[in-house]
Amino acid sequence: MINIPKGMKDVLPSEVYLWHHIEETARKTAERFSFKEIRTPVVEYTELFSRGVGDTTDIVNKEMYTFLDKGNRSVTLRPEGTAGVARAFLGNGLAGGAMPFKAYYLISAFRYERPQAGRLREFHQFGAELYGAEGAYADAETISFADAFLKNLGLKNVALRINSIGCKSCRARYQTALREYFAPHLSEMCLDCKTRFEKNPMRMLDCKEETCKKFTAHAPEMLNYLCDACEKHFKEVKSLLDAAGIVYHVDPSIVRGLDYYSRTVFEFISSAAGAQGTVLGGGRYDGLLEQMGEKAVPAVGFAAGMERLLMVMAAEEAPVPQDKNVCCYLAGLDANARAKTYCLAQTLRNEGISCEIDLQDRSLKAQFKYADKIGARFVAVLGENEMLEGAAEVKDMKISRSERVKFEELAAYLNKKISAEVSASEVIL
Ligand code: ATP
Ligand code: MG
Repeated sequence: MINIPKGMKDVLPSEVYLWHHIEETARKTAERFSFKEIRTPVVEYTELFSRGVGDTTDIVNKEMYTFLDKGNRSVTLRPEGTAGVARAFLGNGLAGGAMPFKAYYLISAFRYERPQAGRLREFHQFGAELYGAEGAYADAETISFADAFLKNLGLKNVALRINSIGCKSCRARYQTALREYFAPHLSEMCLDCKTRFEKNPMRMLDCKEETCKKFTAHAPEMLNYLCDACEKHFKEVKSLLDAAGIVYHVDPSIVRGLDYYSRTVFEFISSAAGAQGTVLGGGRYDGLLEQMGEKAVPAVGFAAGMERLLMVMAAEEAPVPQDKNVCCYLAGLDANARAKTYCLAQTLRNEGISCEIDLQDRSLKAQFKYADKIGARFVAVLGENEMLEGAAEVKDMKISRSERVKFEELAAYLNKKISAEVSASEVIL
């Protein structure tokens, strides 16, 4: 037998309804905020990520699935969604269309990480991008969107943490202060931090090594180095969140793992997810599009990890709709009746009713056992008598009661029964 690649997971038919629920909640929330879906390739030229995500990040340095294609070009399985959307935005000339540009994505992403709970090598993200608006309203709108999505999923114990990491000019002063602070401790810090110290000392604040955390905990805070414009922007974002009733904590330790961020950064953290508590992260990245194209376009966005959301939803026992099982199993007792089940099934399906028939020539007992296993809501039995009468014996599997229903009335009968149940059980977004 050939095994599944390490750090990857199958989504089985029995659990896919949970994914559909998250995806549907994402789509509905996006629609309310007037974001449209964008789909970009799984594979991009490696340069897009080394330039876009940034070559001082863990993602680019250690985690990328990079290989040469048959034409000897270096390509990479996307480790995140933003760089591809930014490329598509520039490459398709969308800056010339309606602005701001607002798009969301539901994607799989690939990172060569050490697999553990909530950390996979293939994982899935729901993300959003808002390009062209530099004011605080765009940050607040993006955070509200993320917040609404998590609330629509029924999550309650997810806390929003925000910070500002300033712009190029105020960050330069901050980096100097960080280097001054870390220099005397550098010999005790990890190898990665030594490189980060040279290339991008702010990355050190994101280090997960215990020995390094000891020092990063007392490092100078970016908030004390913000220039006037960045300080004003951050203040506005906070007051807009206050006005929307969105609760947040300012957390100076949040710097985000990607190079392209500026000003606002935020994370939604769950206490129910264990070590991998960040279910959603985002922020502003005003420098990204300029770095990839020719002109500056302000940008803000977020990405949520779907596997982590599933973990948190399970831990919080968030309400989810039930898996939809087949409505009616049609059991035929002999060749004649079986032929009729085949025709009846076509009619029912045309009427929008899900149904199944026996495909393995099984006994009635075996057919009932199967219908039970797949959770069929009704079983319609057709034997010699039923064929003569032109009616099926329809068993309601929930209450174990049967009724005779004429073949031509079967669709209407089932539709009436299930429509009452669906409207009663639907989880309302
Ligand atoms: P972490 O600090 O946990 O490594 P990150 O900063 O690398 O996260 P982002 O690049 O911001 O994460 O991705 C956004 C979201 O995608 C994360 O908040 C998380 O929910 C999810 N995510 C990131 N990496 C993985 C992974 N390897 N497996 C599963 N989910 C992931
Ligand atoms: Mg990471």
